Amino acid sequence: MPANDAETLILDLVTPVEQVEMVDLGTSLDRVLGQSVSSQLDFPHWDNSAMDGYAVRYEDAVTVPVSLRVVEEIPAGQVPQHTLGPGETARIFTGGMLPAGADTVVMQENTQRQGEQVTVLTTPTQGAFVRKQGSFYQAGGDLLTPGTKIGAAEIAVLAAAQCVPVPVYRRPRVAILSTGDELVEIQQTLAPGQIVDSNRYALAALIVQAGAVPVPLGIVPDQKDATRQAIATALTQADVVISSGGVSVGDYDYVDQILAELGATIHIRSVAVKPGKPLTVATFGDQLYFGLPGNPVSSLVSFWRFVQPALRKLSGLSTGWSPPFVWAKTDEDLTAGGKRETYLWGRLVLGDSGYRFSLATGGHSSGNLVNLSRTNGLAKVPLGATKITAGSDVRVLAVGAGTA
Ligand code: AMP
Ligand code: MG
Repeated sequence: MPANDAETLILDLVTPVEQVEMVDLGTSLDRVLGQSVSSQLDFPHWDNSAMDGYAVRYEDAVTVPVSLRVVEEIPAGQVPQHTLGPGETARIFTGGMLPAGADTVVMQENTQRQGEQVTVLTTPTQGAFVRKQGSFYQAGGDLLTPGTKIGAAEIAVLAAAQCVPVPVYRRPRVAILSTGDELVEIQQTLAPGQIVDSNRYALAALIVQAGAVPVPLGIVPDQKDATRQAIATALTQADVVISSGGVSVGDYDYVDQILAELGATIHIRSVAVKPGKPLTVATFGDQLYFGLPGNPVSSLVSFWRFVQPALRKLSGLSTGWSPPFVWAKTDEDLTAGGKRETYLWGRLVLGDSGYRFSLATGGHSSGNLVNLSRTNGLAKVPLGATKITAGSDVRVLAVGAGTA
């Protein structure tokens, strides 16, 4: 199955979480808003000044210079006491409430003050430097809609609307199973043939980055009963189960067989992508199962390409599910076999004329987690293509820090 078809199929299988929980504004960063937010107040709440200057009746300042009588001073936070009559003005500061009668603010730089009088030197435009009540937002409408990711700007709006606590979708729970007789716990001394279960930690980090909660459930030996038991348990603990290893065609690769025995619907068994060809996608009702390949690079690439969009949709985000691809110019030739969408890892650097991509040195083997580290982009050689020449444009999947 081509990778794009797999992504579409996977997204179609996802039903976003619906449960909403309330969190403090201070901990709402990066959460997904679960209800629409509105206010009973207009924004701005009242006409106010955008400048330090003088509030005037426009008609009084059409012909300049003109001397006006200063009847009061209105700092931000104070309620004006006078209605401006003909020939009157009020000293006003940024954020100060516009007095009744005034419709325009003359900036201080265009005036000259003498005691209780001020001379307006330049004709203002009508309505200048007045932030009109309701010009940003009118009471009762939607300030923010559900499915919005909460960043600094959204936090400012939530605070201004006194929306505390904040309704957010609960985070999806994602179980992690690591299959393989060769795997050991991180603190264990390695015997010949053994390796640390590193995928568990990498996947947990990716799950957090995708806005979900990792539930690591440990190492599963390459035995049918153990695999069956582990998957059954995982399904009781999480919305999504991710396993790594055991999905290729080896004699000890039991995952697909056990999924079928447990009554899963298997939607995908392999995708035309390199690294990461064996990829099992199954469902148990609403619950999704991803069987990722065990090779460290393959499992990460499969996550970025296929699991990340699913988790984003699941978490309630209304947009932005697909992986973030940017255009870059490649520093080296990029080659591929042509039969699979191929990813080559390296560094994306943003310069004055856009992104550049340079390949990681060393082998681009699906087991080489060493040179995958310190990279932040996966250049894509599309299905059917065998070469992208140095200097030409390439799509790069941005991963990790330091990119868009
Ligand atoms: P498999 O997909 O089970 O055939 O595993 C493919 C390769 O990935 C083998 O070299 C495994 O030793 C390795 N591998 C499998 N699971 C993990 C894991 N959790 N952490 C690190 N390497 C793994
Ligand atoms: Mg294995």
